[in-house]
Amino acid sequence: MPIIKVKPGQKVKLSEIDPNDTGKFKDKKDAKKILAQNIERMAELQNVLYAEGKHALLIVLQAMDAGGKDGTIRQIMSGVNPQGVVVTSFKKPTAEELAHDFLWRIHKVVPSGGMIGIFNRSHYEDVLVVRVHNLVPESIWQTRYEHINYFEHLLVDSGVTILKFYLHISKDEQKERLRARLDQPHKRWKFNPADLAERTRWDDYIAAFEDVFKKCSPRAAPWYIVPANRKWYRNLIISETIVETLEGLNMKYPEAAPGLDEVVIE
Ligand code: AMP
Ligand code: MG
Repeated sequence: MPIIKVKPGQKVKLSEIDPNDTGKFKDKKDAKKILAQNIERMAELQNVLYAEGKHALLIVLQAMDAGGKDGTIRQIMSGVNPQGVVVTSFKKPTAEELAHDFLWRIHKVVPSGGMIGIFNRSHYEDVLVVRVHNLVPESIWQTRYEHINYFEHLLVDSGVTILKFYLHISKDEQKERLRARLDQPHKRWKFNPADLAERTRWDDYIAAFEDVFKKCSPRAAPWYIVPANRKWYRNLIISETIVETLEGLNMKYPEAAPGLDEVVIE
């Protein structure tokens, strides 16, 4: 599966990664069965994760506007028990959040043992939009990569497995998706005119993302770059990576209470 797992310090050039890639699959039909199997397997693994209560899984999703973060969550999590998942969408920080360090609002919602946490945007916005728009001086945002690495290291040491996915779409694909939001009445609510201004800064965002991949891909919490023009392929490889990661945790159901074989329910 050509999902790209970034190595520590690796210089990724996004222009060299094809957002249309679909690996060995021809089309959506070809991948349908495997996706369904992955979603089913994810539900089983989540059940053990929850029962065992030892590990937490944190899934971080970042992308350009219209990159498919919402759709990924809707489609990939369709099989899991809602009781074991917490999705947090990070918006522009509130006054209270801004009055704290940038990780304050993040740390509060890291999943606890047994839970899957999904971040729709994340602490990485503090070195992406914040950098592109000079919301704080460079001397401040430059220090954040190191803070992020230490923070994620703390989480990993505390039993949190971190999967960070960048949904890689092309600028043309973004154009089509923004256009669809304008054209289709049920998508109009999602059209944000501010996205057009962000689109003019495409290259600045690409540079900011490439720096993130280089600086914040330690072995314990690497970035994964997902070709994402084809939604079905995006879903397939993300679900595959989640399944493989959960399987790697070698989880077990807890021991049952002793003497259960003799129990009689009147
Ligand atoms: P959406 O994901 O479409 O609901 O938009 C959320 C908006 O919040 C995006 O424009 C983000 O760039 C913005 N946002 C998220 N986190 C931050 C942050 N730390 N600082 C500034 N803007 C942010
Ligand atoms: Mg938006």
